[in-house]
Amino acid sequence: MSIALHERREISVRGIVQGVGFRPFIYAQARQHGLAGLVRNDADGVHIEVEGAPADLDLFLRSIRDEAPPLALVEDVAWRPLAVCGDHDFRIDESRDGGRRRALVSPDTATCDACRDDVFDPVNRRYRYPFTNCTNCGPRFTITRSVPYDRAMTTMAGFPMCPACQREYDDPRDRRFHAQPNACPACGPQVRLCDCAGGALDIGEEDPLLRTADLLRSGAIVAIKGLGGYHLACDPSNREAVGALRGRKARQDKPFALMVRDLDQARALCHVGPEEESLLTAPGRPIVLLERREDAGVVDDVAPRQKTLGVMLTYTPLHDILLHDAAIPLVMTSGNRSDEPIAYRDDDAVDHLRDIADYFLIHDRPIHMRCDDSVARVIGGETYPVRRSRGYAPAPLRMVERVIRQTLACGGELKNTFCVAKDHHAFLSHHIGDLKNYETLRSYREGVTHYCRLFDVHPELVAYDLHPAYLSTTYAHELEEAGLLAVGVQHHHAHIASCLADNERPGEERVIGVALDGTGYGTDGAIWGGEFLVGSIREGFARQAHLEYAPLPGGEAAIRQPWRMALARLLTLYGEEDVVRLPIALVQAAGERNVQLIARLVEHHVNMPLTSSAGRLFDAVAALVGVAGSERTTYEGQAAVELELIARGPAHHGYPVRLQPEGTGWVIETGGIIAAVVEDLLAARPAGEIAARFHRTMADLVVAGCTRLREEGGGGGVALSGGTFQNRLLLEQVTELLRESGFVVYRHRRVPTNDGGLSLGQVVLADSMMQG
Ligand SMILES: [Zn+2]
Ligand SMILES: [Zn+2]
Repeated sequence: MSIALHERREISVRGIVQGVGFRPFIYAQARQHGLAGLVRNDADGVHIEVEGAPADLDLFLRSIRDEAPPLALVEDVAWRPLAVCGDHDFRIDESRDGGRRRALVSPDTATCDACRDDVFDPVNRRYRYPFTNCTNCGPRFTITRSVPYDRAMTTMAGFPMCPACQREYDDPRDRRFHAQPNACPACGPQVRLCDCAGGALDIGEEDPLLRTADLLRSGAIVAIKGLGGYHLACDPSNREAVGALRGRKARQDKPFALMVRDLDQARALCHVGPEEESLLTAPGRPIVLLERREDAGVVDDVAPRQKTLGVMLTYTPLHDILLHDAAIPLVMTSGNRSDEPIAYRDDDAVDHLRDIADYFLIHDRPIHMRCDDSVARVIGGETYPVRRSRGYAPAPLRMVERVIRQTLACGGELKNTFCVAKDHHAFLSHHIGDLKNYETLRSYREGVTHYCRLFDVHPELVAYDLHPAYLSTTYAHELEEAGLLAVGVQHHHAHIASCLADNERPGEERVIGVALDGTGYGTDGAIWGGEFLVGSIREGFARQAHLEYAPLPGGEAAIRQPWRMALARLLTLYGEEDVVRLPIALVQAAGERNVQLIARLVEHHVNMPLTSSAGRLFDAVAALVGVAGSERTTYEGQAAVELELIARGPAHHGYPVRLQPEGTGWVIETGGIIAAVVEDLLAARPAGEIAARFHRTMADLVVAGCTRLREEGGGGGVALSGGTFQNRLLLEQVTELLRESGFVVYRHRRVPTNDGGLSLGQVVLADSMMQG
């Protein structure tokens, strides 16, 4: 074979190709095809030069896409010819920090089987080492300070490798070749057990994890530093421990998540279907909401009145070892006091959690980016995300059309995520949380800067919610003053656009969008949330129908106290004199004074915005039937959640639904629904039956609205979005009834239906608005 027959090609590979074992894979492929040359990471991704016979080069090129390692996401492979240089071997070059940074940082990934075997093998040098990882698994996003993804750019920079680790790192045949967080007991991070003030405990030669497991089994609450922040852990079968955790965390009713060591332990707690099994074991290891077993053996206080438990499998060796030693499942709830963001810096954690935790299990590998656990469930055999965060962010969401301008979408206020986008990529952030909290706002700002740096996005366009009081909106206006183009996107338009982008629908597809949620600022200044829109991402959306406006007495106060909502509805229907005499529990509990108070608000329109919110309609009905939390909610949407929980459904008949024409569209009357609920209460119908009939009514109402809009040319596709569609009973009925009526139904698959998915919709709509 003569060298003249050889060609040399320069290949650039883009996507998630760094830190996922891509270079050793390329090395192995090149050798297998008898090619010479080199491979290196650069700021764009992976750069390859190969030399050999054209047929071998073609095969090699094909293998890049077809046989890429499991964690790699190959998005683009481009090549051009180079002059032959006569290389004889293939080598891996050191990284170069180029001008642009386009390489994608991958999400944190659960321990792989091989590493878990190492950890539980008594003769392995990593036996019981909590920071074991390889190129196929381990921390990524949470330890990455900047790109290119190399050890020096991570929080592992302070841990020089020992000779044994270095040998693995340098050996292309090793599973830990260029595994940036590679470490062992001799050179890597260490755990230590501390008292509640953060002082190290003297436990002699004992293993801190073994001691922690003992403490947990004997009823202690331990703050445990994990991958994206601190958890608070305790024994879920210990009434006192769970009660103490609830009390100290000031978290009244919101469920705690559980961590289990394997699927068997999950099955002992909950019913696990095949799709749920794949979701539990996915590399992102989300908390999966599963139907709890009667004999689950956890105290009710873990998830008061819930039919589900949030369960996740261990996802780091630290958790693997701890859960192995404990031999019981553990409560693993985010390490924060109510409403605060999850603690992730050691000194902060001790400050914030010392009154909650009895002990701290700390380690010395810094967390660069705080990242909460993700939450998902399976509905109708498909994944339905509730919170997209650790293990998923910051993987890009591919968009059907590329954005014209690099864009930052600021998201909403609660469950905030932001999104930066360029070309075909939308980088939806991890869960940021409630921006009203100062600490959260700070991490929001830092997060935006970090994403822009990591993904080399320089936003020219900033999209924001129309609500003037959202802190994300204020932030957008700051950027506008600094010279960026800024565009406001209506909340429910963004929800529907998010659902379409989530389903990778083309921009020109015209659909009916049904956005049901708690609160969103409307273009008429009212609070929207029961919206039927018609349009497309390309053309924008028009509001063609909505739920009847109802008073929201006291504004925010009515959201926290659903009984206010119910009384206002009754007052509008029956008048003050009759309401006082209504023999239903809600009125009796509220008392004449409260009825009068609400009546004055309604009468004088003082501090009383109008709302078409579906969430508030759920609240009103929940308060009428008297669910827990309808006096004062302790977490967002609680009354509606409780109403779903008591529903003995599904009901086959709902209450009557009427549409009235208004302008060029329709109003869906809801007063009749309230009146029908009151009649059922007066007839002493059980609360569970009323709840089920109400759910059915909401489903009927969605179908009635969509059917009318289809008759008017709205199209045959329906996109469902908004926080109210976290209600499984509602979602299943709506989907089934719409499909029976011949509609194509789009619902969320990759991003949450709640405000956590809002910023994706803001990106695509803002981009389209600026083109129009
Ligand atoms: Zn591994
Ligand atoms: Zn080492």
